[in-house]
Amino acid sequence: MGGAMLLKETGPREVFCGLTSIVWLHRRMPDAFFLVVGSRTCAHLIQSAAGVMIFAEPRFGTAILEERDLAGLADAHEELDRVVKDLLARRPEIRTLFLVGSCPSEVIKIDLARVAERLNSALGGRVRVLNYSGSGIETTFTQGEDGALKALVPLMAQSQDDQLLLVGTLANAVEDRLINLFKRIGINNVSSFPPRESTNLPTVGNGTKVLLTQPYLTDTARALINRGAEIIKAPFPLGVEGSRLWMEAAAKAFKIEENLIHSILEPLIIRAQKALQPYKEQLSGKRLFLLPESQLELPLARFLQRECGMKLVEVGTPYLNRELMQPELELLPQDTPVMEGQHIEKQLDRVREKQPDLVVCGMGLANPLEAEGISTKWSIELVFSPIHGIDQAADLAELFARPLHRRNLLNDKTLTNV
Ligand code: SF4
Repeated sequence: MGGAMLLKETGPREVFCGLTSIVWLHRRMPDAFFLVVGSRTCAHLIQSAAGVMIFAEPRFGTAILEERDLAGLADAHEELDRVVKDLLARRPEIRTLFLVGSCPSEVIKIDLARVAERLNSALGGRVRVLNYSGSGIETTFTQGEDGALKALVPLMAQSQDDQLLLVGTLANAVEDRLINLFKRIGINNVSSFPPRESTNLPTVGNGTKVLLTQPYLTDTARALINRGAEIIKAPFPLGVEGSRLWMEAAAKAFKIEENLIHSILEPLIIRAQKALQPYKEQLSGKRLFLLPESQLELPLARFLQRECGMKLVEVGTPYLNRELMQPELELLPQDTPVMEGQHIEKQLDRVREKQPDLVVCGMGLANPLEAEGISTKWSIELVFSPIHGIDQAADLAELFARPLHRRNLLNDKTLTNV
């Protein structure tokens, strides 16, 4: 059994806030709308994180609270009611409206749960209004998804049926492939949460076995347990090994014959390992430092070390749920430093001192590090890319090989110019 060295530090942080999750959640549930109750800063963040999509058909918006609204809470409530009324008149296709809180102190004073309750009774079930916080004080960027899903859990109908529930946003094509694989091994009743339509929520109850697809869903997992579901403990489905162990854990929970699952996965594993080989050659022996941002750091580190031969200098994570992460921690090499939390200055000092070959970090830190000659990978890219499952292992490795390849080209060019 591996024995990671669990460390903790606190201090100044540099991470995106939970509002960022809206970018992938609104793609997943096109009939939902995310209304950020926030300041102009929040509007800018969500527009720049969403890139050009804001010019297409946006399914999120920002109720910017102006000075006038903040003079009194009564004004803020009136302003919110007005924005919601206008929005729903303009966009009758909206079925679920999320009011997303942010961190300006004026917004914190507004009880969004009460606003949602008031709007729900005014709308009489035509649109469901929910609320959660995407505030940068409380959340890092992937935790926004945790908040949104947790808010949906009370709306899931109760059912005692035996079923497998995949929890966490997946790319639609990846989800289809995984569900198909589960069916082939004999697990037929499989649903996903979040669903593709916000009103088409799966059921939950004592017969529900949950397989998390993303590691940052602590609150959602707890809410599902409170509804009777059981969490299947497994590493996360990143890389060949992680995806295999993840599927095997589900098969075991459903008492499927081991031989059957092996015979179905074996050809996929052989193909994926072959596809992985060229990237393994590029990544093997390279030193990796993961700064805390997405909570995907542990499964990524495990994949890059065990399947691609990278050496782990430090694995940061903004938050460590030891129970959910135990299967991942057990697969890390003895004494791997796993740092929970962040003191950005100290972490950057360690990066400079250790001079890793590759740093996984937030967008804000990437440019300065690149300027110092250190290759980087944006962690946010990993939540936008289809990286789950055995078939995706080579694509996942390629995401890390690319910046190293680019650095090599730059170095060659510099040498030629000397
Ligand atoms: S929620 Fe807070 S951290 Fe996020 S954009 Fe708004 S002000 Fe900034």
